[in-house]
Amino acid sequence: MVPHNVTLPKNLPLVIVSDGVLLPGSTIRLPVSSVKNINLVRSRLTSGNSLRNTIIGIVTKETSKDSHGGSLHDIGTAGLVVQVTGTNWPRPSYSLLITGLCRFKLLSIVQEHPYPVGAVKQIEYDKSLASDDNDLQLKDLIREFKEAAKKMVALLDVSVPSVAKLKELVEQVPSQHLIDLIAAFVRATLPERLKVLDAVDLATRLKVTLPLLLRHIQKLKEDRESDDTRSRKDFKIVKVTRGGRGLSHDADSYEDDQNELAELEAKIKEANLPEHALKTAKKELARLKQMAPHMPESSMTRNYLDLLVDLPWSVSVKDTCNISKARADLDADHYGLEKVKRRILEYLAVRQLRGDLKGPILCFVGPPGVGKTSIVKSIASTLGRPYYRMSLGGVSDQHDIRGHRRTYIGAMPGRVIQGLRSVKVNNPVMLLDEIDKLGTGIHGDPGAALLEVLDPEQNSTFTDTYLNLPFDLSQVLFVATANTLSTIPSPLMDRMEIIHVPGYTQEEKVMIGALHLLPKQLQEHGLSLDILQIPQEIISTIIGEYTREAGVRALERKIAAVCRAVAVQVAETKCVDPVTNKTDSEVIVAEIDDDQVQKAVDDQVEKVEESHKENNTLEKEDSSHPITEGSQALPNLLQLKEHMELPIIVDLKMIQDVLGPPIFQSGLAGRVSVPGVAVGLAWTPVGGEVMVVEATSSAGDSNLTLTGQLGSVMQESAKIALSWVRKHGELLRIDKDFMKDEEIHMHFPAGAISKDGPSAGVTIITVLVSLLTKRCVRSDVAMTGEITLNGVVLPVGGIKEKLMAAHRSGLTTVIIPAANKKDLDDIPSSVLNEIEVVLVNTVEEVLQAAFDDGFEDMFETDNDNGKSVSPSSKL
Ligand code: ADP
Repeated sequence: MVPHNVTLPKNLPLVIVSDGVLLPGSTIRLPVSSVKNINLVRSRLTSGNSLRNTIIGIVTKETSKDSHGGSLHDIGTAGLVVQVTGTNWPRPSYSLLITGLCRFKLLSIVQEHPYPVGAVKQIEYDKSLASDDNDLQLKDLIREFKEAAKKMVALLDVSVPSVAKLKELVEQVPSQHLIDLIAAFVRATLPERLKVLDAVDLATRLKVTLPLLLRHIQKLKEDRESDDTRSRKDFKIVKVTRGGRGLSHDADSYEDDQNELAELEAKIKEANLPEHALKTAKKELARLKQMAPHMPESSMTRNYLDLLVDLPWSVSVKDTCNISKARADLDADHYGLEKVKRRILEYLAVRQLRGDLKGPILCFVGPPGVGKTSIVKSIASTLGRPYYRMSLGGVSDQHDIRGHRRTYIGAMPGRVIQGLRSVKVNNPVMLLDEIDKLGTGIHGDPGAALLEVLDPEQNSTFTDTYLNLPFDLSQVLFVATANTLSTIPSPLMDRMEIIHVPGYTQEEKVMIGALHLLPKQLQEHGLSLDILQIPQEIISTIIGEYTREAGVRALERKIAAVCRAVAVQVAETKCVDPVTNKTDSEVIVAEIDDDQVQKAVDDQVEKVEESHKENNTLEKEDSSHPITEGSQALPNLLQLKEHMELPIIVDLKMIQDVLGPPIFQSGLAGRVSVPGVAVGLAWTPVGGEVMVVEATSSAGDSNLTLTGQLGSVMQESAKIALSWVRKHGELLRIDKDFMKDEEIHMHFPAGAISKDGPSAGVTIITVLVSLLTKRCVRSDVAMTGEITLNGVVLPVGGIKEKLMAAHRSGLTTVIIPAANKKDLDDIPSSVLNEIEVVLVNTVEEVLQAAFDDGFEDMFETDNDNGKSVSPSSKL
């Protein structure tokens, strides 16, 4: 039973309702979905669990027909929240079970956000009246009321627990509580209930409530008498009493519910569902009709039905694929990438000829920022299909792909079904981004779930766990991207055709910057080539001194920073004319007549076209400038030209002002100028890297210490290198006991990144030899290659990325295994022209190339032909 002696705090958080009233002693289920009410639930009820937190005020907002907002009723009810249930999907919605405690007077609203809080004054029961045994008139009224209440209970089905409880209460509770309880139970309109709430003194409350009670009894009697309708009405009563009386059970809300259901029914009819889905939809709708509207299950069923009707079961777009258009589109959107584009065109051509999608899934693999995602967007636009990106990075739960069982609170469909719902067609281009970053957690393997999605044999009947119905995914064009192949689950890899998208050379980056990134950023910042130009040599400086990447993402950001800086300058100049103090548009209207404007437009279009030609900009990107932007921005341009010199041509000084001092300067030469240091080349998922390996020796006990987060393969390479140096020390003029009282410490910088793989072998040997012979390695040389115990150099992977990284860092000689010669075919000639590639078979050849003047003693003269050969080459 409700405590009668609660003392309310001065300020109460308020839930404002529009369709009902909470009366003390009664319990209601209150649906909560407005932002403020959700804020209140989150900050008071679902976090922190003190009893005080669970007392809130319920205030009714009266909507008057003439005013829009409506005013708050000045008497409300404090309630104790006894249960919170809810779901966060597809939108947050909670349902509170609240028991009314006592009335309060709302004095003022002291806070609006994040939820309203009101200053309140508790309204005490009129104790004098309640205990005044001498007031005979009141006593009679109370008796009459109790009699009527008993009559009403007698007309109800006592086998329903809540009716049985009501029967008990009628006997026991003090009269002042009984009146509220009955007033909450009987059927009444909102104004009638508000009247009961307003009736603070007992006599008034009795007078207001008794007619309602008598009316209800009359209605129950009528229902009983009418045989036809009896069963239906009884059912309604039972239903109402079973669900607990909810605020929405008044006549208006009941109607709303019915309208919603009718709407849903109509939607189901219109949705053109396939037979199996239609059957389920009808079944669920029938269930929904039986449910009390504010039970959590009802909102779950509603969400499910919403999904069913939203899904594009039979909606598809027509492919607009035409190979020559596709070629033009791909060329217009992306510079270079010839091999990739060729492969895409082949793929599209085969698809077109076969007329279906059965075939491997394309997977673009390469470092970040090389255009993998944007090329997929181009494919979608050339096919005329909507594009949907599904990011798989960090997904470690198979339910993310397959959906959750509907029985869970907050259950939702998997990403594939969600994606289809949002694009509204069943044949979009769906990008599975970062497929190499799929995780495996305790909730099953998402890779296995993806297999089901991608397998053409199975995906025509893909069954999402939430949807629980097969959905045909065979028309979806799946494309994947990844940074590395090593972490893609192999069954998934079998389904995919890998297309490598390597990093760009300096020249390619400059062209991408000038032809694509700059126009794109100009447009995004509301600028044009008439206002801002960045010469190619400046783009080249930005690439060299402010970025270190295989792709062009950082370059794009830097260009955006320059555009922002210029946009500020332009905006400042544009705002106010210093002479007239008028804004731009006003000045234009006053000073330029139509003819002048027309002439200026003609001049401008001509100029823009000229600069367009000069910049050799690809048409698709730029065609927007002269026609749309150019003519519109033109008056501003004329105005601007009066105040500043245009176009602004970015120079080195401006770059430094905007981007700060250079971030990367090749400090390699300085670092390699001591013995015990060499430059290695490493492959990482984000492109090639140069790595300065260092070694020092100090007094100690013959140990070799390695640091820098190395894997076991690299540790082994170091041991192999040490053994080789020990064996060949004499030829290198290294003291035999070089580690007797010394320990060597070798470090691979960038320690936070774990490194492994055999390709550092030649670098480790070179560092050791340099340290022990006290000779410096050539500062312009970088190297890569695996070594064997006998000094043979074996081929390694990632030659293209490594050579590009060396080129980026300004190194001019690269030592690679001779067996990697074939990989040189892939290297752009602009890189090969500037780098001398030394192909080696043995460690001796490595050392010969890495040190100025080499090591004479290491090579023996071959007696047969007089050539010098290394000992290892005989193996
Ligand atoms: P990724 O998906 O490989 O990480 P994005 O597709 O996000 O890279 O590309 C980053 C940015 O670089 C995009 O704005 C893209 O348009 C641009 N870009 C990358 N490569 C090229 C290219 N070859 N030609 C034109 N723009 C490119």
